[in-house]
Parts: sequence; C-alpha cells; structure tokens
Amino acid sequence: MFEKLKEKLKGWIKKSKEKIVETVPKEEIKEKAEKKAEIIEQEPKLKPEEQGTAIEIETEIEEGIPEEQIQEDLEKTEKPTKASLFAKVKSKFSYKISKEEFNEIFEDLEMLLLENNTALEVVEDIKSKLSEKLIGKEIEKPNLEKEIKTELKSVLNEILIEPDNPLDAIKQKKQSQHKPFIILFFGINGSGKTTTIAKFVYLLQKNNLSVALAAADTFRAASIEQIQIHADKLKVPLIKHDYGSDPSAVGFDAIKYAEKHKIDVVLIDTAGRMHTKTNLLSEMEKICRVTNPDLKIFVAESIAGNDATEQARTFNEMIEIDGSILTKADIDEKGGTIISVSHATHKPIFYLGTGQNYEDLELFDKQKFIDELGL
Ligand code: GDP
Repeated sequence: MFEKLKEKLKGWIKKSKEKIVETVPKEEIKEKAEKKAEIIEQEPKLKPEEQGTAIEIETEIEEGIPEEQIQEDLEKTEKPTKASLFAKVKSKFSYKISKEEFNEIFEDLEMLLLENNTALEVVEDIKSKLSEKLIGKEIEKPNLEKEIKTELKSVLNEILIEPDNPLDAIKQKKQSQHKPFIILFFGINGSGKTTTIAKFVYLLQKNNLSVALAAADTFRAASIEQIQIHADKLKVPLIKHDYGSDPSAVGFDAIKYAEKHKIDVVLIDTAGRMHTKTNLLSEMEKICRVTNPDLKIFVAESIAGNDATEQARTFNEMIEIDGSILTKADIDEKGGTIISVSHATHKPIFYLGTGQNYEDLELFDKQKFIDELGL
C-alpha cells in the first residue's frame, strides 16, 4: 500500500537536506570564521605550533572550504587544545532554515503530494504547519534529514484523527441498553459500499454480535439482489421493500425487526447517489431523522483522490458523518486520499478496505499509516 508516496517522500527528504546543505555554507562559513577568529583571540595559552593549526583552520573557513573537511582536519589533530577548539566550533554548526530555503524545498513536496492524491487545500495546510515548525528552528546539520522527517510526521499526526474502534461503542451499547446499534452507510455507487457492509457483518459475527441488514437503496437496479447475495452467504436477515419505495421505511422496519428479535446491530445500505443531486440528499436527511443512527459512515474509494474528498466534504456538510471507510487501499499506491478525506471532514477514518474478501477490513491505525509512508 502507498508505495509511490512512500518512495517519493523518501526522495524528497533526502533532496531537501542536500538542497539546504548546498545553500547554507557561504554565509555561514563567513559568520563562523568571524566567530572562530574571536575564539582564537581568546586562547592566549596556545603554544606557537598550536596557534599555527588554528590559523590554518581559520583560513580554511574564510576560503569557504566545506565544514565537513574542516571538522575532519580538526579531528585529525591530537593536541588537547585543538580538541577543545573543535568542540567550540562544532557547537556552532547548527543553523536555522530560512523562509526562502523552506519555500524552495516545499515546492517539491507540494508537487509530490498533489501528484499523490492530496487535495490542494490540504497541501497548503501542511505547508503552513510545517513552516511554523521548521523555519528558524535551530537544527544540527547531521540531524537535518531526521528533523524534516519528524516535523512532517508530526503535521500528519495533527491532520489524521485517531478513531475510536466502532466495535467498542457497539459492545458498550449492547451491555447498557437492549436496543440495536444502528449504522447508516453512505457513498456513491461503485465505491465498494455493499462489499464493505458485508465485510462489516463478518467482523460483527466474529465478535459474537448479531446483525440485520436493511436494503434501503431502493433506487439502483439490482442493488437489493446484490446485498441479498451477501445476506445469504453470511446468513443474516435482510429487510427489503420494492424498488422505488421509501428508503426511510425500510430502515424503520429493519430497526423494528431487530428490536423484536433482540438483534445487536442494524446496518442500513442507503442509495449511492451522486452527491450533487440535492433532492436525493434531502432523502438522506430524512433517513437520518427516521432511523436516528448511532453512526453515519461515509464510504469512498481510497484511489478516487479529489473526487472522494469532494464527496466526503459534501456528505459531511449535509448529514454530518461520524467517520469514513476508504475501500481499495490494497490497490492504492498514493495514500493522499486518506489524508485529504480526514482533513476535509475533520472526522476519523474508521477502516480501510484491503481486498475483495470478507476479512479484508482493517481498523485504520494512523501510526501504522504514517509508518507505511516511511516517516
Ligand atoms: P457499491 O456499488 O458501492 O456497492 O460497490 P461494490 O460493493 O459492489 O464494489 C464494487 C467493486 O469493488 C466490487 O468488484 C468489489 O469486489 C470491489 N471492492 C470493494 N471493496 C474493495 C477493496 O477494499 N479492495 C478491492 N481491491 N476491491 C474492492
């Protein structure tokens, strides 16, 4: 998963370090040479032969000889006074990234994030957060790569929201109330919504929780037959009406059925409308009112990029989702949709769909995701 983004980030971090290292020495070496001259002046006890070496080093700095070489020269010398001199110079080897340097290295990151399905507004937010962390921060040169990586990781940590495990809430409700836990699933056709619902049934069954399904997508041809196949395979009741009937009524009946049969969870499949059709969105508002769900989950493809982000934003504005499930993460090389959907909704990603089998539903672990990006 996310190989492309991982590879690109790795390249960017390395390149950023090189870029900064290349741009820094001229001004800094001059500044260090001045500081160095002061240090040498303050060392009256240097013996003549030691002074010679110190002056050589000073000249090297003034001539713009790379710091690494100067360090090496200093390390080679065995005299104690030079060792202490080295320590003093070394302590000055940290420096601050300027705004210009940051902008230059961010240009590449911006491109690679955009190419990997990260929405523009998310990239801008990452830029602003990262600039706050990096510009002007005192960084030791050997730690540069590590610092950039750490700060980028911390920005992603801020954007991604740690989800609570929905199973905990379901189990808690089962213990405290004798009412079914109701989950509404939203998302456009083809996003993998029906398969995800079936995977969720499988997960609940593995956790000894009973389930009823509601075929509340009464709009799309064959949607009822499609969910019926999963209901039969998984041996769970499916509450359905005719095509064209009121989806809210299907949801309502499924809840009544679950109450009567003491079923723990009701999963309601809603019509996979295009999010732009306003009248159909008002239908969604109605099903939310009638079924009063414990969770509203938006389902989209992890590979859909900006489309998925826009859908997530619209669904969230209309019905205020509780979180998302992103399917097809197993074939997603980019990973940016995950960051963008999280950012656009300010809601957690609950699960990732990682294949076509029932067991291919992974609880989203933001730390694991960040690790998979090599950060
Ligand atoms: P719906 O129209 O939103 O209900 O979508 P479906 O559930 O019918 O899924 C559409 C296609 O995506 C099917 O071929 C599924 O097998 C496939 N699919 C769903 N989830 C995943 C997933 O996590 N990974 C992969 N590789 N395929 C998936």
